[in-house]
Amino acid sequence: MIIVMQKNIDKALSRAVEARIRELGYEPHVIHGESREVIGAVGDERGKMVLQSLESMPGVEKVVPILKPYKLASREVCPEPSRVEIKPGLEIGGNELIVMAGPCAVESEEQIVQTAHAVKRAGARILRGGAFKPRTSPYSFQGLEEEGLKLLAMARAETGLPIITEVVNPRDVELVARYADILQVGARNMQNFALLKMLGQLDKPIMLKRGMSATIQEFLMSAEYILAEGNRRVILCERGIRTFETATRNTLDISAVPVLKEQTHLPVVIDPSHATGHVSLVPSMCYAAVAAGCDGLIVEVHPDPEKAASDGPQSLRPAAFADMMIKLKLFADAADRSLPGVGGSL
Ligand code: PEP
Ligand code: MN
Repeated sequence: MIIVMQKNIDKALSRAVEARIRELGYEPHVIHGESREVIGAVGDERGKMVLQSLESMPGVEKVVPILKPYKLASREVCPEPSRVEIKPGLEIGGNELIVMAGPCAVESEEQIVQTAHAVKRAGARILRGGAFKPRTSPYSFQGLEEEGLKLLAMARAETGLPIITEVVNPRDVELVARYADILQVGARNMQNFALLKMLGQLDKPIMLKRGMSATIQEFLMSAEYILAEGNRRVILCERGIRTFETATRNTLDISAVPVLKEQTHLPVVIDPSHATGHVSLVPSMCYAAVAAGCDGLIVEVHPDPEKAASDGPQSLRPAAFADMMIKLKLFADAADRSLPGVGGSL
């Protein structure tokens, strides 16, 4: 249920409502609006009608049911778009289009540091790189693990770029959180509920990738697992879904962007690399994603794609990435999004 408080009232009235929600066995989640607070009461669906009694408490304007199965992720609870702060001065979900770039996997100090400098120069704001790789085959390169995290931290220290990296296993959450600025949940783990719950207890942004066969509703239910544990800093990533089409690695569901924008307040990022699987298709999907209204992109870039330990065919060379960013600025301008650091705007 959503408890809508009256405008400009004493905050003590809202706190009393929160306390009563807890007494009734529900968890209150407060959303601070410009002039009023809205409190989402989340818990066992079956007894929710008892919450209706809150309507008689002082300061309460109305109590309305949340119609969607996801609650905290829904626009009903939080009508304004959320901005997820990565570090002071850098947020995803604001006016600035945030581009994350880097190799699929961290392979060596030279590879990650060189790529970090190159993508930063081109206008990327966040460095990506996998240290734990969820590979389809157990015989494929599985990542450098903690050594990879240390190399990412080194690249961050050299460039100032925050780092995003994947956590595959719940037992590694604490380790990855020690290094990462954003923890990524891969497509194959979108419904690893034990992992999602642990990430919900962290005070770090989480980027959740859509499972390759997940519906948008299932995607949002997974985001809800993280939110329900108390972590509000969730970013959604559409990375292509599996269809009958084989010309591309996956099929980029570009309409997921406006659909998600209607259904949720969470920021939406597009991954054109895993969506297409082919370097020649990546730039056009970046432009399409911006036109569709995404808040950011995550793009694979490798200094020597032929020798990449994973996903070479879909990784842009630094020069191609820089060219793409210059053209992207035109699309960002058309979509009224800023892209500082590209085309002389910084
Ligand atoms: C990745 O980002 O390197 C990755 C493995 O992506 P996905 O989980 O979308 O396949
Ligand atoms: Mn990859």
